[in-house]
Amino acid sequence: MAAKIIDGVRVSAGIREECKKRVTKLATHGVTPGLAVILVGTNPASLVYVRNKIRACADIGIRSFQYEFPVDAAPAAVIRLIAELNRRPDIHGILVQLPLPPHFSIASVLSTISPDKDVDGFHLYNVGGLVIGDTVFPPCTPYGVVKLLEYENIPIEGKNVVVVGASNIVGKPMALMLMQREATVCICHAKTRDLAQFTILADILVVAAGKPNLILPQMVRTGAVVIDVGINRLPNGLLVGDVDFEGVREKASHITPVPGGVGPMTVTMLLVNTIACAERRLAVPVAGSAEIAVT
Ligand code: NAD
Repeated sequence: MAAKIIDGVRVSAGIREECKKRVTKLATHGVTPGLAVILVGTNPASLVYVRNKIRACADIGIRSFQYEFPVDAAPAAVIRLIAELNRRPDIHGILVQLPLPPHFSIASVLSTISPDKDVDGFHLYNVGGLVIGDTVFPPCTPYGVVKLLEYENIPIEGKNVVVVGASNIVGKPMALMLMQREATVCICHAKTRDLAQFTILADILVVAAGKPNLILPQMVRTGAVVIDVGINRLPNGLLVGDVDFEGVREKASHITPVPGGVGPMTVTMLLVNTIACAERRLAVPVAGSAEIAVT
């Protein structure tokens, strides 16, 4: 039987409705969540991502502030702006759109964002929080994957999870978040020998490698849940993930499409993190939850 297709657009829309309610509640306390987005250069993909984030903020009532720097901007100028945004009470989240031009050290820039405004979850403090299971801001893409699994009532505890891809923004945090939920996690990457011997063991297979058709049906266990994080533009213009969708959907129990699976969740979880920050500031600060509701 063909897999159930996990509809990221629908799940994302539901979460955004909840976000609107939380923003309305914050307004009764005189607070509007504010997100600062910093863009350096004119990378076409980054321009699209930033536009989507700004639009999503406007849709649910988050105030956004966009800052643009030329591609040859001095890193010190960006760091000065971040220092100012760290101090501003109307800014709850600060996001630096990646990648940055080559003369920037991404790590040094990200380290200047105040950890309690680091809505992307890339600051070392937040990465450390993830490692010990006391996350302040879960990184948006893996957070979105966890939400998709929750919405589909897919159990994680005790399951064999294989994550293909070990980047700092997707693969590693994904593995940590699922391990925190008591899955048995294996991480594969470009140097993994015989990828299929690992993927075939997965009850839940998360793929974030950026390689079209990396995962073929014979690499997937019958009944597995397959989450495709990859986004690849083919020479013919088509957008595809890392999984052979048509083949694998005949074997899996659940599968995410590309587009329309994980993608919409990433921006949505950015909104959730920004709202959570505003709520936390209003309430007594509580470490360890990104979803503290205003009472
Ligand atoms: P990255 O290039 O930083 O990391 C890719 C990882 O995949 C590396 O760990 C690499 O070792 C591994 N890998 C590469 N080829 C492999 C192979 N043949 N077998 C096994 N592992 C292999 O990429 P990233 O930033 O983690 O993004 C991964 C993919 O996810 C990209 O397609 C990206 O566009 C997509 N992405 C999607 C979203 C979203 O919102 N849906 C968000 C971020 C990234």
